[in-house]
Amino acid sequence: IWRHKLMIPTLKHVRLKEYGYLPVGLAVTSGTVSYEAGRFYVSVVVDIDEKSKYNNDLEAIYQPTGEGVGIDLGIKDLAIVSDGRTFKNINKSSKVRRLEKRLRRMQRQLSRKYEFKKKKGGITATASANIDKQKLKVQKLYQRLNHIREDHENKAIHEIVKQKPRFITVEDLNIKGMMKNRHLAKAVAAERFYSFLSKLKRKAEIIGIEMRVADRFYPSSKTCHACGYVHKGLKLKDRVYICPQCGYTADRDFNASLNLRDAKEYRIA
Ligand SMILES: [Zn+2]
Repeated sequence: IWRHKLMIPTLKHVRLKEYGYLPVGLAVTSGTVSYEAGRFYVSVVVDIDEKSKYNNDLEAIYQPTGEGVGIDLGIKDLAIVSDGRTFKNINKSSKVRRLEKRLRRMQRQLSRKYEFKKKKGGITATASANIDKQKLKVQKLYQRLNHIREDHENKAIHEIVKQKPRFITVEDLNIKGMMKNRHLAKAVAAERFYSFLSKLKRKAEIIGIEMRVADRFYPSSKTCHACGYVHKGLKLKDRVYICPQCGYTADRDFNASLNLRDAKEYRIA
């Protein structure tokens, strides 16, 4: 691998369109070329010595000594952290909404093109070419949306671990049960939670941050963070927590994140 090209034995030299993503000067043990939405991608496996400079640097940078945090995952926002930070749900941004609308329109156009081809009773070359063109358009936009979502997630995770908290406590979400849910919105949310949590866990593992999962029955949302009262009457639509016992008032999800941070019963993920 060079900065701007790589050698693939069957293809010889191949120019890279984007630089800086592949490691230069390391022993490559294998590689994969893939194709998605009109573009080629290459990924490689390299050997890195455990005691190498790269890993030592990582350890030096990340010494998790900061205060532990609790994170509440939500529908309205992606994540609410007990240190007061909130990460937005990118799917609610106007940009993503606009692109999703465009995607739906393009998908409808694609299915109309299929219908047209069927009606004409088989294969006209133009109809097929038009379908292929439209398909690629749909794939490209779909991929772009995915990249926006992934990028947003990665940035949020980076911001969270950057503070080097000693531990991160999250809820024990019944994601598998949620995914089977008939409500599309809930199934979609479950998928998002799942992807966010597994990424966060992987990142925490690398850095040495303890990842805690609060007990399944711990009422993180219903407990008052000030006095410990469990507000059984709190409804899902109540966005503000008002304690009937002591009057403590806080954003519902922020209150939950504080309780998660201070949870005494948890397992280590
Ligand atoms: Zn209270």
